[in-house]
Amino acid sequence: MQSEQSPYLNKVGIIGAGPAGLATAIALRKQGIEVHIYERATALRPIGAGVTLSPNGIRSLAAIDTDIVQQLQQQGSQLNRFRIRTAKGWPLLNQPVKDDDYDQPFLAIRWFSLQEIMRAKLPPEILHLNHQLTHFEQTHQNVNLSFANGEMATVDLLIGADGIRSIVRKQLFDLEDPAYGGWMTWRGVQKYQHPLLPPHHTTIFAKRGKSLILLDNGQGYVSWALEIPMPTIHRSQHPEAAKTRVLQELSKWHPTLQELVNLTDADTIVERPVCEPMILPQWSNGRVTLVGDAAHPMAPFLGQGTNTTFEDVWALSTYLSQQGNLANALKNYENNRIERAHTIQYRTMYSAAQMRNPFLRPRWFKTSLGKVPDQAKVSEKAFSDWLYQYELTTEST
Ligand SMILES: Cc1cc2nc3c(=O)[nH]c(=O)nc-3n(C[C@H](O)[C@H](O)[C@H](O)COP(=O)(O)OP(=O)(O)OC[C@H]3O[C@@H](n4cnc5c(N)ncnc54)[C@H](O)[C@@H]3O)c2cc1C
Repeated sequence: MQSEQSPYLNKVGIIGAGPAGLATAIALRKQGIEVHIYERATALRPIGAGVTLSPNGIRSLAAIDTDIVQQLQQQGSQLNRFRIRTAKGWPLLNQPVKDDDYDQPFLAIRWFSLQEIMRAKLPPEILHLNHQLTHFEQTHQNVNLSFANGEMATVDLLIGADGIRSIVRKQLFDLEDPAYGGWMTWRGVQKYQHPLLPPHHTTIFAKRGKSLILLDNGQGYVSWALEIPMPTIHRSQHPEAAKTRVLQELSKWHPTLQELVNLTDADTIVERPVCEPMILPQWSNGRVTLVGDAAHPMAPFLGQGTNTTFEDVWALSTYLSQQGNLANALKNYENNRIERAHTIQYRTMYSAAQMRNPFLRPRWFKTSLGKVPDQAKVSEKAFSDWLYQYELTTEST
């Protein structure tokens, strides 16, 4: 990545300190740009989730900062085996993780470790916690930001990295939040060892459309994610109620799974509805653009939210370093990213449908959806190759 200072950007404001916001800040600071991250949370605390980084995401992150990838490899777990079991633990599938064609591994790591590795790359004074963006106004010269705590800031470029219910996206395009997608998820992380959950393995326990995904996260941690189809959103009143709900769901599953959830601190369990993908025709307007979930909300079934986020950051930071003016940089960023992101979003819809009906094949797209990119309809192997072999190629218009 180039390290020359952008001639037209002095100060960039990023909303959100998730993977998108932190990675964007790291990439832009390497170009000598002054960056500020505004995060609504009062502290970055260890939430209970693990994340799988796939070769496309790792390659993108390596382009942003190779040292981050080295630290991920030290702290996380390289996945080498994929298993499916029944809820009671009977084996259904046991196969190696096929990463030979992709020159980068599949890594699982605790969400908090990923966040901490990236945060440590940034000076603390650029991260402004307890800064919930409520409103922005843009002029030809800059963007004025207003926060719930009464503070204000002025930046040359505003980047909305504020996740699935992005306020930046809402204000930029006058859009509602994505609709509920018919699934609830609960996620947790716990130090745990058991022969059913060996190191370097991903194991899915499945029962009638419900699944519990277990990942070795390295350093003795196992992350779990329960995904259940539900007609309406379920909101637990407090953390213990969420944990009780998960334990009820697992009451007839293998006792090890119940023990794993039982040991998990209820305060760290993350309960989230899955949203419908939102297919945006445009990501930027004037001096404001989007990255990550804000730009391409998608269901988690392909494990691509964070990975495509790192692809966005690689592309955005590259165009900002190459283009002579902001409008061209944002236009080219959008042109470069949108079709690929749409393709992945559509493919997650297929994966969601496939979880309900495992016999579904990609031709399903031909009958049930409107204009879907051709690449979203190809076979599993062709799609995996296209997804995981991603390299940024920058063409300017
Ligand atoms: C069950 C489940 C499993 C998943 N597994 C994987 C996986 O294995 N691999 C993968 O790649 N992805 C996975 N994902 C997706 C992944 O979690 C997201 O794609 C990723 O977090 C997107 O990062 P982001 O930075 O864009 O958004 P977020 O992580 O949502 O971060 C947004 C940040 O913005 C802040 N914010 C929001 N609004 C404001 C505001 N108004 N002002 C200031 N700050 C604000 C939030 O507090 C938050 O810190 C999974 C998701 C789920 C639900």
